[in-house]
Amino acid sequence: MPAVEGLRVLTDSDVVKEYRKSIMQLLTLNHPVDCGICDKAGECKLQDYHYKFNGTPSISTDAKVRSTKFHPLSERIILDNERCILCSRCVRFTREISKSYALGIVQRGDTAMVRGAEDHPLDADPYSDNIVDLCPVGALLSRSFLYKTRVWYLKPTPSVCPGCARGCTVQIWHRKPEWKLNVLDPRRNVSIERVTPLENRQVNGLWICNKGRDLARIFERPRAEQAMRKGVAVDLAAAVDAARLLLEGARHAVALVSSWGSNEELEAFKAALGARFTCLVKQDWEPQPGERLDDDLLIRADKNPNTTAARALFPHTYDDTRALDADTDLVLIWGEGFDFACLPAKARTIFLNSYLQPENGHADVFIPISIQTERLGHYTNFEGVVSAFEPCFPKNAAVADAETLFAAMVATESTPA
Ligand code: SF4
Ligand code: SF4
Repeated sequence: MPAVEGLRVLTDSDVVKEYRKSIMQLLTLNHPVDCGICDKAGECKLQDYHYKFNGTPSISTDAKVRSTKFHPLSERIILDNERCILCSRCVRFTREISKSYALGIVQRGDTAMVRGAEDHPLDADPYSDNIVDLCPVGALLSRSFLYKTRVWYLKPTPSVCPGCARGCTVQIWHRKPEWKLNVLDPRRNVSIERVTPLENRQVNGLWICNKGRDLARIFERPRAEQAMRKGVAVDLAAAVDAARLLLEGARHAVALVSSWGSNEELEAFKAALGARFTCLVKQDWEPQPGERLDDDLLIRADKNPNTTAARALFPHTYDDTRALDADTDLVLIWGEGFDFACLPAKARTIFLNSYLQPENGHADVFIPISIQTERLGHYTNFEGVVSAFEPCFPKNAAVADAETLFAAMVATESTPA
């Protein structure tokens, strides 16, 4: 019934309430009510609406129709057909939003089932995990979150996906301090349990791509937490002093500026060190094999979150197909993505990095720095929209915050973050 001028819609009359209640009875007719073991419990619309609009036990005296409990829709998603209420939202998503046409409904009546299309695998849809969120019940289940925890033990922290220049706003879910695990692996208390979209009309609408769901694969790589001089462990203050001395002695210093630095870090770098270096913006991440390069929905070809802000402050980019000038005597490498084989023969190096990599030990000075989930900051996306991220976890005291580190590298007294 299209809405027209003068149409009056009653939403709360006795008749409406009665029909709404009947619909809830219909929807739960064959629903298994698995709430005790269902990942959706706590976020389930069927649960919420049942209590809000129905609240009475099933009037059916027939046995419920049994169906497939663990149907593998893709490498990432499992379908429980007994819980499915056949709303067809997931099917519409693959037709209208991601346009993968990967899902459909087969059969009729109480044997109707959601199934994958034979010629359009759901695995090829880089937005597939959105159907887990939009399923109103626990029929679509994320394999990576399956039976991992109950959602009421978790809290979401607003953040920004660094996976590409879109900068989708997300919620990073992690354990609430009051539900800290004391007996199991303590890392579970400070790990990313799941990532979901944070609705943002200006940036990503209601959706994110699967790369954004997998941020733990980026952020939970083994961390570098030890400052070094030529591969020998030193404390953070000594490493900062050594970096300062290298800087004072340099005549042709080049800085490769990170496109993963926050707006605040980039400003701090410019204020403290911008005049001392020839600054070139580096692409920390390149597209990975098999990754979608770009499309019309969200995914951008630039796989770095803050190239826009970095280029606004430092207009020149690092071209990894051309060697740095031979007279370069100091290279400050901020972040990942630089091939140490490209260093000029006589150049000394200061390397700021967050993850364990062989290059860390090859640098003249290596300083470990914090990651996005340990600090406050902002990124500016390719359209100039600024989004904030907040800390989820505390940072190790042996790791510096780049924002304060840059000032410490030019200070006369050593005061690292
Ligand atoms: S969104 Fe969920 S409930 Fe709706 S048809 Fe798909 S699997 Fe079934
Ligand atoms: S589109 Fe880009 S920013 Fe958005 S979730 Fe995917 S990788 Fe992250």
